Amino acid sequence: MGFSGRAIGWTIVLLCVGVAVARVGPSDSIDITVLVNNSAHMPAIVLRQAESEAGRIFAFSQIQIGWRDCAPGLLTKDPCQRGPGENEFVVHLVPTGQTSLDSMFGIAFVGQDGDGKYCDIFLDRIQETVRTTRIGLGQLTATVIAHELGHLLLGSHSHSFFGIMMPRWTQEELQRIAMGNLLFSKEEALRMRMRLQSQERKTPNIALETRK
Ligand SMILES: [Zn+2]
Repeated sequence: MGFSGRAIGWTIVLLCVGVAVARVGPSDSIDITVLVNNSAHMPAIVLRQAESEAGRIFAFSQIQIGWRDCAPGLLTKDPCQRGPGENEFVVHLVPTGQTSLDSMFGIAFVGQDGDGKYCDIFLDRIQETVRTTRIGLGQLTATVIAHELGHLLLGSHSHSFFGIMMPRWTQEELQRIAMGNLLFSKEEALRMRMRLQSQERKTPNIALETRK
């Protein structure tokens, strides 16, 4: 499985799209909504911890997350049923990894235009690493969620040599996760807010396809 004492692999989403140009000040805050499908049946208290911590990570980038936990049987007008709209994204917690590389903790679905709304988080692979490290399940899940949302918010070329968007996390990054200070860089934070504001301007409030 993923972490064997050296490094953890991540999905690589490197596609060719330029960064949208928009006027965003360094202190301007942007709100997004993240819809959570907990198909892995993560205990509610741990899920709350993960959402809180992922929200804290994004707050350092002046992005405020409103969490919406989806449940079966909701009304069709509910965003969980109609699909994500403007500045809405979907995190799907799945029980087992669905990629050939078992070192991957999650995957973000990003199109060739750099846009994406959905990401999957593989709980079994996170739990396996939690068993061999001192990181809490909620903490590691939060950081994986933040990384995959980072792919959706950064678009193309979203991996980095430093910080939370590194394609592989070494022991050093795991230690920083445990301390809660593996974050986005200032450049990544600005890039995410620029992209979000650009999409606010150009994207009509439409519902995208619903994926199960
Ligand atoms: Zn990645």
